This record gives sequence, structure tokens and C-alpha cells, in this order.
Amino acid sequence: MSDASQQQKRLLLLISKLGYQARAFADAARRLGAEVIFGTDRCHQLDDPWQDSALPLHFERAEESASEISRATALASVHAILALGDRPLAVAAHAARALGLPYNSPESVETARNKLRQRECLSAARVPVPQFFSFALDDDLGRVLPRVQFPCVVKPLMLSMSQGVVRANDAAEFRAAVARIRALVQSPEIQVTREAGLDRLLVEGFLPGPEVALEGLLEDGSLRTLAIFDKPDPLEGPYFEETIYVTPSRLAPRALAALEDCARQAVAALGLTRGPIHAEFRVNARGPWVLEVQPRPIGGLCARALRFGTEKIPLEELLVRHALGMVTRSLERESAASGVMMIPVPSSGILEGVAGTEEAARVEHIESVEITARLHDYVAAWPEGSSYLGFIFARAPQPADVESALRAAHACLRFDLRPRLPVEHPLSRHTP
Ligand code: ADP
Repeated sequence: MSDASQQQKRLLLLISKLGYQARAFADAARRLGAEVIFGTDRCHQLDDPWQDSALPLHFERAEESASEISRATALASVHAILALGDRPLAVAAHAARALGLPYNSPESVETARNKLRQRECLSAARVPVPQFFSFALDDDLGRVLPRVQFPCVVKPLMLSMSQGVVRANDAAEFRAAVARIRALVQSPEIQVTREAGLDRLLVEGFLPGPEVALEGLLEDGSLRTLAIFDKPDPLEGPYFEETIYVTPSRLAPRALAALEDCARQAVAALGLTRGPIHAEFRVNARGPWVLEVQPRPIGGLCARALRFGTEKIPLEELLVRHALGMVTRSLERESAASGVMMIPVPSSGILEGVAGTEEAARVEHIESVEITARLHDYVAAWPEGSSYLGFIFARAPQPADVESALRAAHACLRFDLRPRLPVEHPLSRHTP
């Protein structure tokens, strides 16, 4: 006798890179007895690392990929979809609609994904966002500049991880920023993604104040805060790679309540209703301001910084449980302070060596030091970069101890990054 509740659950994980983040989510699903199917748009870059044949998809063609998923899963039904990272979000939403699975609407996800559309939506709903306008990359900057108020931040509409996000304090810096972002978005590495909107840039007023991130979970449109992280390194630019995240936040309870309220307003305005939320804000004397809200979990290995319930399950498992319709409401974040440092890239180059990891791991309160960049690979520093050298994790009774431990561990690390000789790309004549 077949009973749907006893049937093995099947989870579709959509992700660009089948790397360590995919593995953490897949491991969590398997611990829960679920089968995992991957969908990725980078199949040419992998040779089936864990003998899991992944569905080859085109994340920039959401509806077509959703039909592909429906066809491929017609015989083996999928019970839930999780999208990791920004690129697969629209495919996840269209596929969920096609398969009749609960998920955010494609419209809400597409609005959140595009930085200009998100600003327009939030500003129309009177959610606090910086002043903004957009221009085409081939516009005459002489006509754009009179509209710019300094200091400003210039960014592409569709990239993530702060890639191509640059602060400019005057007209000369603005021109230099635009030239640099133009070279980035026109590079073969970005053009291959075929994202729409790569021909426009967004200009925003620079928001002063400390930055915080909120990790949340939506259920029928209602937002549950899982954690609020402080980012204790000042992010003043000109580039904005992430470094330290520490939770619980040391902001005053009143500021935290205002932040959660702002997150709720933003989520409602965007029409997001279900699943993980990662939102970033600046907080200043005028209250919280939305930098961005995305319907996906925190990136990289960072989810490991959050553990829930008496079994201390990591965030990945909590999100898989939620996606599969298992109960998560009673699971509270552990009481210890926790933090992660995304290890910044000091300068672009080929990574030829890493020293000091053992010493770093011995620092008090440090739980692990994971170097995720591969030896002999090229790693780009920001604003061109989009991937960190690795992650350092710490836990301690107090957030201040977590922060000091992360700084002390990072100080032990030495990276040997050698400059790469510029080689012109044979087709585009682009020199990296
Ligand atoms: P991404 O989605 O690529 O991370 P964001 O728009 O969130 O792009 O910007 C990345 C980072 O750049 C933010 O976390 C913040 O530190 C900085 N930043 C972006 N826009 C602004 C702004 N208007 N004012 C101040 N800082 C900003």
C-alpha cells in the first residue's frame, strides 16, 4: 500500500556552483531521509562530484527551465524546491508554480532580484531606501552627472555578493567607477550569465551608519526572525566585500524592533510569502534603511554560524525541514553568541599558498577555519571579486568575544597571492 506520508521526500536544490554550500544543504536533506536532485546552470564546470547527475538548466531563462524541470520530474515527483544564491530564484518560483508547490510568486522574486525594480517597489511602498536612479551604460556621462548627488554608490542591477558595487565621492571617482563596472559587466565571465539588465547601472545615495543583516523565514507571509547579525567592520567603501558577521546584534532593543518592522514592511511590499529571507540594512539616527531583501538564505558556508534547538541543527537543516513541510517553529537559535568571517581577498592573484590555519584554529573560541579557495586558482579582489578565500567560525558567551576571536584568528593567516600576467581573451580581446 502506498502512503504519501511514507513516501521518500524529494528536494530539488537549485544552485549555480555545485560546491560546499550545495553539499551542506544536500547533507542536511539526506540526514532527514530526503532524496536530493540538483539543478544547475554550470554543468560544464563539474564532472558529477558526488555522482549526483544534476539537471542542466539556464537560470536566465526561467520559464523554459521551469518546463524542463516539470518534464524531468514528471515520473518522480518533487516535494519542495530550495534556491541557493540569487541566480536560480526565478527558476525556482516558476517551477514551483508549474508543479503546484508552495513558493514565492515569480513576480515577487523577479522584483526582488532586480536592484532597480526592488528600489522602485520599496520606495513606492514608502519603505526607507536611499535616493536612486538608473542610466544606460552607453549614456553620455556628461548628461548623467548633473543628476548625481555625492557621495553615491554605483552598482550593476543583477550581480550579487557586492560584485561591482563602488562608492564615488566626486565626478572623477564616478567616471572611474563607471568605467570599472563597465569592464566587469562586459567581461566574458559576466556576459556568459546572459542576465538581463547588464546594460544599465543603478546610482544611489550613500547611506551612512552601521550595517546589519537579518536572516528570516517566511510562512504564509509572516516573517520569523531567525537571527540578526552585526557587521562590526565599517563598510565605508570604495568597495564593499563582507567580512565579520556576529549574532546576537548589540543594537539596542528599540533599534532591533524598528529593524524587524522595516523588514516586515519590505517583505510585504515585495509580495514575498514563503521560505528563507536574507535582508541587509543600514541603521542611523533616522532609523533602519533597506539595502536589499532577497528570498534566499545567507550565502557561502555562513549558514553554519546559526544553530537551532536542543540538537543544535544548522540553518541548512532548518531550511530543508521547512521546505519539506516539517515543523520548525519550536526551534530557537542557541543562546551562545556566534560569528563568521568571510575571509577577504587582499589583492587579486593566483593563490599559491596559505599559512597559519592551524594557529588560527587554536585561537580561543574559534570553531573552525575553512579555506575554500583552491590553490593555484585565480582569486579576484573586490569590486571584481565575488568569492572569498574562506570562512572562520567562532562561538563564545558574548558577541564581543566572538568578534575578537575572529580578528585574532584572521591575523594568524597569510595568503600568498601572486599577480597573474595579463592575457588577452582571444575572442573579446578583453584583458582581465
Ligand atoms: P549585493 O546584492 O551585490 O550584495 P548590495 O546592493 O546589497 O549588493 O550592496 C552590497 C554592499 O554595498 C552593501 O552590503 C553595503 O555595504 C554597500 N552598499 C550598497 N548600496 C549602498 C548604499 N546606497 N549606501 C551605503 N552602502 C551601500
